[in-house]
Amino acid sequence: MGKLILIPTPIGNLDDITLRAIKAIESVDLLLAEDTRTSGKLLQHLDIQKKMLPFHLNNEHQIVARIAEQIKGGQTVGMISDAGTPGISDPGFLLVRACVELDIEVECLPGPSALIPALVASGFPCDKFYFEGFLPHKKGKQTRMKVLSEMIYTVVFYESPHRLVKSLEMMKDFFGTDRPIVVARELSKKFETYHRGTIEELCDFFNQTAPKGEIVVVVKAATQKV
Ligand code: SAM
Repeated sequence: MGKLILIPTPIGNLDDITLRAIKAIESVDLLLAEDTRTSGKLLQHLDIQKKMLPFHLNNEHQIVARIAEQIKGGQTVGMISDAGTPGISDPGFLLVRACVELDIEVECLPGPSALIPALVASGFPCDKFYFEGFLPHKKGKQTRMKVLSEMIYTVVFYESPHRLVKSLEMMKDFFGTDRPIVVARELSKKFETYHRGTIEELCDFFNQTAPKGEIVVVVKAATQKV
């Protein structure tokens, strides 16, 4: 029987690829990639030629059983997403579950993910935390906001620059204006920035300076003491 290897890739700085990730990409029989063009650039940078198969939100349901059977039949399959760790707000879960159900070995290499650096550098307690992934865009957003605002642990979520201001405005109603928050932008890239303040302060700031780049939001818990 083969195995499934989940291979984290850099979230912006190509130097963050690990030696094990490179060896794993070289070793697999087949590499599943969220976007073969994006991953093609990474492979080119690493000077690796590898057979890739697109595996993304729009086709994973159709091909997951076939891939699991291929692994059962002896192939070692690697999976990479566009950036970071597969399965973290990216495809991955369905295939991992299918493999576990078939008693196929699953390995996830340690490596880049946007949530951990943002959480650890936030300065908020990081011994316990809650990761929301992306908030719903419309339906259900207020319900999630209410749940998050009552969390007793540091809350981390991913946000797009286009929706950040709207989310911060909404957060004022649920979390209150004074709740400490960190907006981590462009982690590991040239313009990496941590914006620290209260929800109201960062709301005012981003109302005047349109947010750009990739964003992780970290919010101090309602009752957490530093
Ligand atoms: N699988 C990835 C991971 O392990 O972090 C996350 C993929 S998710 C589709 C992409 C989101 O992650 C972005 O919209 C942003 O919220 C966050 N993200 C990814 N790279 C980032 C970076 N360099 N700086 C800040 N946030 C980032």
